[in-house]
Amino acid sequence: MPERWLIHNALLWTSVDCEPIANGEVLIENGRIAAVGRQLRARVETRVNADGGLVMPGFVQTHVHLCQTLFRHVAEGEVLLPWLRKYIWPLEAAHDEASIRTSTLLACAELIRGGTTTFLSMETVRHTDVVLETVESTGLTGIVSHCLMDESGGFFPLAVSIEDGLADCDLLLRRWADHPRVGVAVAPRFALACRETNLREVAQYARDRRLRLHTHSSEQAEEVTEVLRRTGRRNVEYLHHVGISGPDTCLAHCVHISETEQRLLSETDTRVLHCPSANCKLGSGIAPIPELLALGVSVSLGADGAACNNRLDMLEEMRMAGLLQKLRLGPAALPAREIVHLATAGGARALGMEREIGSIETGKRANIIIVDLSRFHILPWEDPATALVYGARADDIAMTIVDGRILYEDGGLTAIDEDALRHEVTIQRRKILARAGLG
Ligand SMILES: [Zn+2]
Repeated sequence: MPERWLIHNALLWTSVDCEPIANGEVLIENGRIAAVGRQLRARVETRVNADGGLVMPGFVQTHVHLCQTLFRHVAEGEVLLPWLRKYIWPLEAAHDEASIRTSTLLACAELIRGGTTTFLSMETVRHTDVVLETVESTGLTGIVSHCLMDESGGFFPLAVSIEDGLADCDLLLRRWADHPRVGVAVAPRFALACRETNLREVAQYARDRRLRLHTHSSEQAEEVTEVLRRTGRRNVEYLHHVGISGPDTCLAHCVHISETEQRLLSETDTRVLHCPSANCKLGSGIAPIPELLALGVSVSLGADGAACNNRLDMLEEMRMAGLLQKLRLGPAALPAREIVHLATAGGARALGMEREIGSIETGKRANIIIVDLSRFHILPWEDPATALVYGARADDIAMTIVDGRILYEDGGLTAIDEDALRHEVTIQRRKILARAGLG
């Protein structure tokens, strides 16, 4: 695309706080939004016709595992701790550079195709540099977390000393700290995978470098019981005790949390990453999202890994987030507009990127999607939030734009060779299953 171009004929929905406007236009210049409105009278050579499609901010998924996409459909029918020990950790330990590159590329292809323009991921204890390189090549915006696990996790092939793990982070930061589109975060895997002194050291390391801290908490009841047995504290309280809480801390799941922990999340302004499909798939439970929102907690959405979902489809997570709360609290729980907020501005806030992404505003990055709401399974509709959350599917995304660059249009990815990716996925899947002893 040229440096300056225009989207026109849009049903323009700049943020959930506004109503969409018909015949809207967005002027994009050097990857950023230069003007928004009707009849901008901009002199541009390239005009992209949105065909009356919904033009809105791209989705922000705040909890995914790109390295697990190659494990899709492998580990079925297990609850969390055996699922990790029997399948996920052996498969992660079996990754080499070629398999993790293919896994990352497959994830990025699916994210782009489904309208996700920015993500926060948690990878494994090795090859994070390859993940960053691959994400960078796809055009997506993302923060990639380097995972830390020590011998207390009880899985020795992935156990890394804290010195070596943080030395790896140093190397990643040296290469990627100033990159405009991809960044690095630090991810102690969960409370049971790191000793207390190491958790404290990781928290200090991240704070000293202004990095995000990303971990899992309170996903399943057995995990909470084990944390309580080992530490004398419930999971969120324990993490807070070791310094893992606050606006720079992103906690995935938070399903089994007490009222005291809910208040603690609110008081510390800790970010909660809600993964409704994964919580269903592993039989974990339903997170108390309306209660957290009522307390002012920052909540956002993610698909988690393809091994426990099995899709990385934000529209699916939005629908599931709504359905689960209706099942739990009745049909008025968690309105569709709130869910669209979680999927866009909520994600931006979780990542500390609210000035850059999450809405279509002059000066922000041009991370924009076009959704075709004219398809038969969506028509007729009045409220765009309802149409999007309960009507739309991933293949209704007509275009995905990141930093002003079109990454998906006319049914095809522009920066990824789809046939080569399919071929490589088949090869790498076979190889990694064999290496992990699962093939
Ligand atoms: Zn996860």
